[in-house]
Amino acid sequence: MSARNILVINCGSSSIKFALINEAQPHFTLSGLAERLGSPQAELHWKNAEGKRSELIQGADHRQALSRILPLAEKAAGGQLHGIGHRVVHGGEHFTSACLIDQAALQAIAATAALAPLHNPANLQGIEAALKLFPQLPQVAVFDTAFHQSMPEHAYRYAVPEALYRQHGVRRYGFHGTSHRFVSQRASELCQLDYQASCWLTAHLGNGCSTAAVVNGHSQDTSMGLTPLEGLVMGTRSGDVDPNLHGHLARTLGWSLEQIDQMLNKESGLLGLSGLSNDMRALEEAREQGHAGATLAIEVFCYRLAKSLAAMGCALPRLDGLIFTGGIGENSPLIRSRTVAHLRLLNLALDETANAQCIRGQEGAIQAAGHPRVLVVPTNEERQIALDTLALLPA
Ligand code: AMP
Repeated sequence: MSARNILVINCGSSSIKFALINEAQPHFTLSGLAERLGSPQAELHWKNAEGKRSELIQGADHRQALSRILPLAEKAAGGQLHGIGHRVVHGGEHFTSACLIDQAALQAIAATAALAPLHNPANLQGIEAALKLFPQLPQVAVFDTAFHQSMPEHAYRYAVPEALYRQHGVRRYGFHGTSHRFVSQRASELCQLDYQASCWLTAHLGNGCSTAAVVNGHSQDTSMGLTPLEGLVMGTRSGDVDPNLHGHLARTLGWSLEQIDQMLNKESGLLGLSGLSNDMRALEEAREQGHAGATLAIEVFCYRLAKSLAAMGCALPRLDGLIFTGGIGENSPLIRSRTVAHLRLLNLALDETANAQCIRGQEGAIQAAGHPRVLVVPTNEERQIALDTLALLPA
């Protein structure tokens, strides 16, 4: 059988990210982004063997954009497209792994929309458009939450009245599961350990950030919760705050729920602390220039990250290694170094020369000799989605 091609689609409310993955090739054969969908400025950008291109797709919606993306994918796949993998943010308790999309799956994804009102409807829009355009192709949904469905109940329950869990699904779900799984698996390969008998702490640090404890290939705990706001300091998200903050702001400042949601999700995190930017590169540069807000934002980010990793340690019987990934985790020796400095209790220490070398896609071990493993492992959520899709294709 020749190597198969999978198109991976990630639909946001006004954007579609896509990548074509050939199972035998390490790099994407085609990748791109359709953005500002539904507006006169809608644009499609893509990169293939011929280089980079952009075109205006004025007023295009998800379906129109996909009808333009598909011929590009078919051409890049030499006419041999075998399936489509869709990223879906929330699978609730229904989805513990990826699934072939049929009518029942569509209904179950729609039923979890209350848990992810911004994301799931957009994901569904993309799936429905793709099903209409390519009814003959097998299509698979891969969920950000599914990997964390193995968490034990003591890790996923909140200490709130039981009825909120039983009747309304109020519990911790966790996100970035595709990434935590990909990097923990890759780390096991790199270290020649059996994934099914390995224990990892993982830190996915991008615009969204989360930690996880992965034991024998199963997530045992993670820092995000009911929504992706819980846990670490992120680009514009606050992470953990006192749950009474909502009431306090409503009572003292008269803020509405919408204002508080907006502040915690879009105006907080690195941006809120620094008063400057949500972008770690910009903050590192400003810190070099002595900017107090940027310096503080970085210190809080690293301390809170270390605190979360130490807490995740409760879920591990032993530590085979700590893994850094995501745009920040893969590219920032400073953040890795400041974070590990808070983890002396776990006996972690870095070799700063190795740490400085692991940037721009370079994977490897960065711990000091005689200390537990610390690895930088570039994530590849698209490839993991393609692998999950391939695994479900009819034989
Ligand atoms: P992601 O969401 O995984 O694409 O990650 C985005 C984050 O990675 C942003 O905060 C970027 O500033 C950060 N990032 C990318 N490259 C670097 C770098 N060289 N140094 C520090 N942060 C970086």
